[in-house]
Amino acid sequence: MEHYDVIIVGAGPAGISTALHLQQIAPDLASRTLVLEKARHPRPKPCAGGVLPDGVNILRDLGLNCDEVPHVKAMVANFQFEGRGVAATARDENLAFIVVYRPELDAWLAQKARERGLSIREDTPVQQVLFGKDGVEVVTPGHTYRAQVVVGADGAHSVVRRAVGRVHPRFARTLLLWVPPSSRSPYRPDQAYFEFSCITKGVPGYVWDFPVEIDGRPMRCWGIYTVNQSAGGMRDILRDVMAQHGYRLEDYRLYGGIIPQFAPEGPFAASRALLVGDAAGVDPFYGEGIAPALGYGQLAAAAIADAFARGDFSFQGYRHRLLESELGKMLRWRLLATRTVYRFPLPGVQRLIWWRSGSLINWAVEHLFTGWAQRGKGRRSS
Ligand SMILES: Cc1cc2nc3c(=O)[nH]c(=O)nc-3n(C[C@H](O)[C@H](O)[C@H](O)COP(=O)(O)OP(=O)(O)OC[C@H]3O[C@@H](n4cnc5c(N)ncnc54)[C@H](O)[C@@H]3O)c2cc1C
Repeated sequence: MEHYDVIIVGAGPAGISTALHLQQIAPDLASRTLVLEKARHPRPKPCAGGVLPDGVNILRDLGLNCDEVPHVKAMVANFQFEGRGVAATARDENLAFIVVYRPELDAWLAQKARERGLSIREDTPVQQVLFGKDGVEVVTPGHTYRAQVVVGADGAHSVVRRAVGRVHPRFARTLLLWVPPSSRSPYRPDQAYFEFSCITKGVPGYVWDFPVEIDGRPMRCWGIYTVNQSAGGMRDILRDVMAQHGYRLEDYRLYGGIIPQFAPEGPFAASRALLVGDAAGVDPFYGEGIAPALGYGQLAAAAIADAFARGDFSFQGYRHRLLESELGKMLRWRLLATRTVYRFPLPGVQRLIWWRSGSLINWAVEHLFTGWAQRGKGRRSS
């Protein structure tokens, strides 16, 4: 049996961020940390790949430059209802919304972690996690590992979350597809679009259209997101909207996905275990999970370093620490927005929100929804 101090299950953004932050603040611990990944990078990941500046900033503070990963910079993100609404324009390139192709981003992150000496074992699915008084056993086919602490960075269907006996309160649902640009689309090719009209059709959420580059070719990523797990008609709505842009949904491969929604009472920690990223729950409003996953990794690494310093692996104060962090505050604001905006399916209310509250939306996006990584940094250094 191999022994480690920390085992991280999952080498997506949350797992790699946890490992990289651990290395930054506690290099000794990082050298006794193992990341177990069931797939092999570059692995498929149906995700629209939109990364807000907070994610880019967290990576920059780790000494990683996202410019190394192929991406498209959308300087304008449009939030609209029935084709009309607010255009949020980034003040400079550093504040742009970047769109990546996830298999490339995640493979790059894992490669960077490896170059820094972190151990990642791929093709190693974790099947079971057993908690004992003196440690944790992590079971994979043909091998059992022992550690003091396990981190569940294993995504929406987390095995670690199940092992700590926690269920997720709510999941969001998505459909996604990649298509070539259409000359019949009225959308600007360099901008990102969030269209909220589906709220009045029983699907609280939005249809998105992002520019992206795949294998050097300009493409569009389209999809639909809803916070209501049982909402019907997502496919029909997406088909109708895309038809207005010259696409026939049936001509493309459609991917489905779920996104665990953050809730203050959600599963974050247990004795000898922390959950990060999707395993813990991410932004319920947009389903934004990449930057939050990176942020979770930072908090988890700090909590693990503290736990080893104190010899106390109960992680009792972790929920409070998370909820009071800038990441936690941002997630709570987005939860409030989810409960407010998606609650009112009346077209009149939605028009009021998207057509008449432009400055409020711009202010909320800038001060409540983004900038949290930077604010957290200010708080840590003060
Ligand atoms: C359709 C769709 C579109 C999205 N679009 C966006 C977007 O535009 N922007 C955004 O910010 N977020 C988006 N998200 C959310 C985002 O993809 C996730 O929140 C993000 O990937 C979370 O990162 P993670 O590291 O927690 O999990 P993941 O990225 O899912 O990584 C988990 C890793 O764990 C591995 N794993 C799983 N089980 C095991 C196991 N038993 N043993 C070992 N390894 C295991 C997996 O192979 C995977 O590599 C989208 C999600 C979906 C479904």
